[in-house]
Amino acid sequence: MKFETNNGHLLWDGCDTVALAKEFGTPLYVFSQTQIEEKCHELQKHFVQKYDHVRVAFASKAFSTLAMLKIVEQQGFSLDVVSDGELYTAIKADFPAERIEMNGNNKSIEELEMAIDYGVGRIIVDSLQEVGLIAAIAKEKQKTVNILFRITPEVNVTTHSFISTGQKDSKFGIPIDESILFPQIKQAIETPEVQFLGFHFHVGSQLFDHQAHLAAVDIALDLVKLVQERFDYTIKELNFGGGFGVKYTDRDQPKPFHYFTDPMMDKVLAFCEQENYPQPAIVIEPGRSIVAEAGISLHTIGAIKELPGLRKYVSIDGGMTDNIRPGLYEAEYTGVLANKSDQANEEIVTISGKACESTDILVKDINLPIVETGDIFATFSTGAYGYSMASNYNKLAIPAVVLVKKGKAEVIVKRQTLDQIIQNEVIPESLK
Ligand SMILES: *Cc1c(COP(=O)(O)O)cnc(C)c1O
Repeated sequence: MKFETNNGHLLWDGCDTVALAKEFGTPLYVFSQTQIEEKCHELQKHFVQKYDHVRVAFASKAFSTLAMLKIVEQQGFSLDVVSDGELYTAIKADFPAERIEMNGNNKSIEELEMAIDYGVGRIIVDSLQEVGLIAAIAKEKQKTVNILFRITPEVNVTTHSFISTGQKDSKFGIPIDESILFPQIKQAIETPEVQFLGFHFHVGSQLFDHQAHLAAVDIALDLVKLVQERFDYTIKELNFGGGFGVKYTDRDQPKPFHYFTDPMMDKVLAFCEQENYPQPAIVIEPGRSIVAEAGISLHTIGAIKELPGLRKYVSIDGGMTDNIRPGLYEAEYTGVLANKSDQANEEIVTISGKACESTDILVKDINLPIVETGDIFATFSTGAYGYSMASNYNKLAIPAVVLVKKGKAEVIVKRQTLDQIIQNEVIPESLK
């Protein structure tokens, strides 16, 4: 991984990470605003400005915080939310309602009401009861709601099966099936409270190959044609999801956004030309690829346990509670000793978390300079699905998050206090 140092200290967007650890404590998430904005600019240049009628919606679940949503908002991007909590965060960040898209495979009535009250731009329908529910709520509130159907394009993806979502046997999406999808489309067209815009798919995550996306685009365009023939209805929007891969370790070779978007757009434009079809709006929903590499985590090394001839365990003051991805889907990470980042590697150690689970191993067999208690370990590429999946297991506090830019650091999430961990707990009268 590429990084900058100063006097042996790892720098992140111009900030000395050892000083950050000292000032804000560890575990700590550190996000480079410059790197986030660079990703946004890449999307602007190679997608938004290159094509007509296209949008980027940040999948907020990757890193849903008020400050992040402000950055995304300032880029003119839209936002994908999947729950009341993510929608609430967007509302509190004053995110423009018309730029919010509500996803989710099991939206509650309360969540739908909240979304419709706020006036979100689109609701992506992902279950068979949803059109009716949305119509009923919209009628009561005298509103109309833009909807898309999330389809399962039935493509296989080359990623870990736990993060692939586009296959037929999936809890996500509606199968493209005469008896399942078509009655839904008919209902949507005939229901005055909903405005049926088009289709959505999301094939999976952490992809380095565009084949799955391209195959899914073909399927979506076939469907567009079928809907025209069957219902004499013109599709106005297609959402191709996210899933673009990032670099966690040097083994990962991620592709630029345009490796995915250019051939997808080529297919759309060729289809429109050939069928004399008005170009639908095209939306992509990157999450991980916007924030993953911009974020690092800092931990302080505590106990060191050498098992002779076996392994040296080096424990950190966090672990699966601030980064569950290694335990959840065998995700691999790499990192450096932030305070010894110019020293040569001398020993192979395993970085273990402090939670009471054997799977709480952050990095297995990493080559580092001699590790000592008090050193600061920086894990790279923890910006996506780290903070957002953090938990209070073992009653560990959720770490603070700082945003850094050109040598300046600002707290964007304060460290949880012990009182906050138990703030909703009550001792009932019967136990007093
Ligand atoms: C998770 C998700 C995304 C974002 O996926 P990334 O791999 O983080 O880019 C986009 N759209 C939907 C519907 C999702 O569920």
